[in-house]
Amino acid sequence: MDKGKFMQGKIVKGIAGFYYVHVVGFGIYECKAKGSFRKEKRKPLVGDNVEIDCLSEEEKTGNIIQIFPRKNELIRPAVANIDQALVVFAVTDPKPHFNLLDRFLIMMETKGIPAVLCFNKQDIATEKEIQELQEIYRRCGYQILFTSAKKEENIALVKEVLKGKTTTVAGPSGVGKSSLINILQPEAKMETGEISKKIARGKHTTRHSELIPIDEDSYIMDTPGFSSLYVNEFEKEELKYYFPEFTYYEGMCKFQGCDHIHEPKCAVKAAVEAGEIHKVRYQNYLEMYKELQEKRRY
Ligand code: GDP
Ligand code: ZN
Repeated sequence: MDKGKFMQGKIVKGIAGFYYVHVVGFGIYECKAKGSFRKEKRKPLVGDNVEIDCLSEEEKTGNIIQIFPRKNELIRPAVANIDQALVVFAVTDPKPHFNLLDRFLIMMETKGIPAVLCFNKQDIATEKEIQELQEIYRRCGYQILFTSAKKEENIALVKEVLKGKTTTVAGPSGVGKSSLINILQPEAKMETGEISKKIARGKHTTRHSELIPIDEDSYIMDTPGFSSLYVNEFEKEELKYYFPEFTYYEGMCKFQGCDHIHEPKCAVKAAVEAGEIHKVRYQNYLEMYKELQEKRRY
């Protein structure tokens, strides 16, 4: 047997005490957690970089014996070492719900996860619709991609953004996330098929977070739990820091600690008036601020 062969990999899925570890060049190993980290009550997470002790090369089984330090950790979905988020909306059909879009961006800001915006279905969009989106998000500092999963347009750009990183793909349903994920992983299909076969044995139907290897060092995660988002994990005074384009005006308002709501001589409000900050973004800021204010009353 091959017992005693140590390898490093990444947990791409965890189900019922089994962890599926992707080892570049070798495929996916079904593992149990056996390392000393168990005494410290550290539970392996999808996204963890681990060392495994291969039990059988034939059966592709092993034990996780070490978890390497995490860069970050999300709770819902439970996943570690996320490098960035690809926030996907459609240019049209359905038209972007801007309040929801800003909630996705704010959630990533609160976790310190850089976001890249991807507007899909550009094949059925008008130039005007594309311009409007550019207009709204230009000054926020997010990278913006326009794609068509259907016509396979700008997929190389998406691949470039994903290269070497673990990316969570977030967005509402119907915008083309699955279509994008499908065309991003042609070479990896076999390996993911391998996991599905193993998992089919366990007959688990609930959706768990799963990392899909798309090339040697790049993974994407389809994120089922990211569809309803309430901003409630922080105080209303904090909200302004999650709008990157507001921070430029920091210190220019008359009042220190200005929340840019009703305060006189507010530089952010002036910037909205002047068209330097887009009114859609500011409107969403006001709505979310109000929501956070009301939360306090419960
Ligand atoms: P998801 O719910 O975000 O995963 O979206 P899907 O990938 O299931 O796509 C939803 C619908 O939009 C399907 O009918 C797709 O065929 C269609 N669709 C996806 N991408 C595109 C695109 O780039 N252009 C057009 N015209 N339709 C698309
Ligand atoms: Zn202000």
